[in-house]
Amino acid sequence: MTFPKLSITLEMSGIFFFLARFRGAVLGKGPEESIMRRIYLDYNATTPLAGEVFEAMKPYLSGEFGNASSIHWYGQRAKAAVERARERVAGLIGARPNEIVFTSGGTEADNTAVFGVVEAAGGGKKHVNVISSSIEHHAVLNACKALERKGVEITYIPVGSDGVVDPEEVRRAIRPETVLISLMHANNEIGTIQPIEQIGRIAAECGARFHSDAVQSAGKLPLNVAELGADLLSLSGHKIYGPQGVGALYVRRGIRFAPRLYGGHHERDRRAGTENVAGIVGLGKAAELAAASLAEETQHLSMLRDRLEAGILSRIPQVSVNGDAQRRLPSTTNLQFDYVEGEAFVIAMDLKGIACSTGAACSSGTLEPSHVMAALGKTSDQARSAIRFSLGRFNTTDDIDSTLEIIPGVVERLRSLSPRYKKSKLVAV
Ligand code: PLP
Repeated sequence: MTFPKLSITLEMSGIFFFLARFRGAVLGKGPEESIMRRIYLDYNATTPLAGEVFEAMKPYLSGEFGNASSIHWYGQRAKAAVERARERVAGLIGARPNEIVFTSGGTEADNTAVFGVVEAAGGGKKHVNVISSSIEHHAVLNACKALERKGVEITYIPVGSDGVVDPEEVRRAIRPETVLISLMHANNEIGTIQPIEQIGRIAAECGARFHSDAVQSAGKLPLNVAELGADLLSLSGHKIYGPQGVGALYVRRGIRFAPRLYGGHHERDRRAGTENVAGIVGLGKAAELAAASLAEETQHLSMLRDRLEAGILSRIPQVSVNGDAQRRLPSTTNLQFDYVEGEAFVIAMDLKGIACSTGAACSSGTLEPSHVMAALGKTSDQARSAIRFSLGRFNTTDDIDSTLEIIPGVVERLRSLSPRYKKSKLVAV
């Protein structure tokens, strides 16, 4: 019996998906599970909490429980801890402490920047334009989509097959109503780094505000808001070995934006809500550690990434690098394994104890091809064959070498299940 190609692919990944999601509940923790050495290669999704960060947070999860807005001793201790953290976050990006607004994460920082600038510029009441790119994280893209529904015009700048935005295209897209340019610093799926210094200069020349989502570049690339020409910049704790659920938005002094949350006078009226003191302290400590270890970490990560990438490319045919191989984060490689179903690969690797991903964690499981791959001009089959390996502080050469021993077998097995692969072999013969 023959099956249509698509249904086999989806069915296969559906079964793998089911196995991966429910095997814990159905089978419990098997004996092999408890002795299996696990290797985490998905640091762009989230990073483990650094030990020093955990230690710094601990007092604020127990004895130091004050509300940072209270005027008594308890409150003032919490307030002092929040302000120390603000200095540390500012230090990571060359900002002044009072230019840092704490948020619940990168998503809120991005939303605040996009909605906040547009609203402050009268968007919704008068005609305004926002320029962004087709490869932004959904925290920016879906904020732009929501603005479009309110009548704001959004221009999405395309990228080339290298995943890089051409600054001249941004310049050409500018019009008198452009109030904001929002362009990410480094892409979460393919790691490509955008020429944001040039785009910052273009924004300044035309009088538009410039926001950059630096959630993935913070701690991996040097960041200086003045050099980047950023008016607003988003950060997230859990991408830099800090806690989940906390982030920050840098807003250059004098930039007007409407808050997303209304309530008390927290964060100098820029973001209402009792501060997440322990989370903020953790973010501050993580920022301090990131600033101190940047050079060393970059070297460590690029050495491991290159070893992994070269190892895969030399062992397995029909694999290629997605996006520009030079202009990218030192930690990230996104590879296209022809004739391999990405979700099935991730699940097969997981069963061997190795965590990697097909792209953004918040999009996985949707079976929709990634918008980033589509923007690179990939077909949906190619997009479904993309795998992201993102490395981090705690990876070792041993992790990479063990991974390299496992991948060829997984790829061979998945290709042997692919009708398209078999057909391509027949054609080749
Ligand atoms: N922006 C980018 C580039 C990201 O990679 C992420 C998370 O994956 C976010 C924004 C959202 O950050 P958070 O998870 O802190 O909401």
